[in-house]
Amino acid sequence: MANPNVEVKYTKLFINNKFVDAVSGKTFPSINPATGKVIAQVAEGDKADIDFAVAAAKEAFKRGSEYRKLDASARGKLLWKLADLFERDINILANLEALDNGKPFQKAIFDVYGCVATFRYFAGWCDKACGKTVPVDGGNFAYTRKEPVGIVGQIIPWNYPLLMLAWKWAPVLATGCVSVLKPAEQTPLSALHACNLAVEAGIPAGVLNVVNGYGPTAGGAITSHPEITKVAFTGSTEVGRIIAKAAADSNLKKVSLELGGKSPLVVMDDVEISEAAKIAHEACFENHGQCCCAGTRTFVHEKIFDAFVAESTRLARERKVGSPFDASVQQGPQVDDESFTKVLSYIESGKKEGAKLQVGGNRIGNCGYFIEPTVFSDVTDNMFIAKEEIFGPVQSILKFKTLDEAIERANATTYGLAAGILTHNLENALIFSNAVEAGSVWVNCFLAITPQTPFGGYKQSGLGRECGEEGMELYQETKTVSIKLPINH
Ligand code: ADP
Repeated sequence: MANPNVEVKYTKLFINNKFVDAVSGKTFPSINPATGKVIAQVAEGDKADIDFAVAAAKEAFKRGSEYRKLDASARGKLLWKLADLFERDINILANLEALDNGKPFQKAIFDVYGCVATFRYFAGWCDKACGKTVPVDGGNFAYTRKEPVGIVGQIIPWNYPLLMLAWKWAPVLATGCVSVLKPAEQTPLSALHACNLAVEAGIPAGVLNVVNGYGPTAGGAITSHPEITKVAFTGSTEVGRIIAKAAADSNLKKVSLELGGKSPLVVMDDVEISEAAKIAHEACFENHGQCCCAGTRTFVHEKIFDAFVAESTRLARERKVGSPFDASVQQGPQVDDESFTKVLSYIESGKKEGAKLQVGGNRIGNCGYFIEPTVFSDVTDNMFIAKEEIFGPVQSILKFKTLDEAIERANATTYGLAAGILTHNLENALIFSNAVEAGSVWVNCFLAITPQTPFGGYKQSGLGRECGEEGMELYQETKTVSIKLPINH
């Protein structure tokens, strides 16, 4: 049940399976984006707290520790138990998420189910991380082992706070690593409830640690820590670049990055227009447009352009914006003042550069960070709104004539996270899927993200793939063992 008065029980740092104050004693406010008011004061970690968390993680990862002695299948059971507890507490988790992030409660419920599915998927991998025996030259007996990479630093964003936590924790447990995770400063709350569930699930102390705080301080202490051997980051391309540099300058820790996007969705002229417009609408407006793989460049064939724009405008006009706790609402507020202001400035730039504003473009009300679902048509490739990641409820519709032209323009971006095509022509779907430079391609659908399929970006959308079998590899080292045998054996 949706409950805007959900109790906020946990506000401290989570280190070594205990909730503790920050060493500095500092706290920071978590703001409700629907009202602009403070929900709670949360412990603000920085370098000293990250050092404590790393020490706890190191102890948990020590050879012979309780955690290291667990059978791989026992780690699978822990993940499965965590999934059960997420399912049990789904209402609490979803209410905290809706309150802190502003996404509609029903949408937050869907996200928690995504966490449950992720934990269960990775639970199955725990005892299947097999090496190989290798028929090497020279007669030695050689085999490979898949080993945990060690102490992992994980930095996550605010758009899917719980789901991104699940995408980070699941492979940690599946591979036998240990983690120090920093949530985004905008959304510190739901992760802390998840920590409480990790204790209840029986995950040994020090395996999962969560330190809330700001990017340059707590986040910076993770990326430059000499004992963290890998950092996994989801967030903006700008910060991804800072993280890769800090990782290289400190101890050359391994880096995986899931960054921004400006994903194209190509709509061919053989589609059923109302159905296609609906897919394109959700592709763009999902999570208030705060989605790294949102389909923000809608390329529409010239033959159906006008009718498609009219239908998209109608859908945006009818999209209900309001309280995350109102069951009929599809879109809540943007996450914070900074993001809200940035989105409105992109809308202004679209108007100035000559895109045609079909609907929206304004703030709604005068409290909270609500923005009207906005559609621009007649957008051209050189406009800011066609090039930059807006991260808000703004759809840009562009016209094209041929599939080749659409592919070329779809690829003319520094990003490469996702792409989609809507068509009944299988040949065109395959030509597009092969040619487009993106980590995920969706045909006649969009945002088809599952724990079973690898997700990540080409070009400046990232490094590495999360989820699927590839998601395990990010957290593993491969060790080759060669054993000399007597000749003639
Ligand atoms: P967004 O632009 O969507 O807010 P960011 O990339 O700024 O996303 O933030 C994603 C995560 O990265 C957050 O947890 C944030 O605190 C963290 N972060 C921001 N700056 C840094 C930094 N310099 N070093 C490490 N982490 C950072």
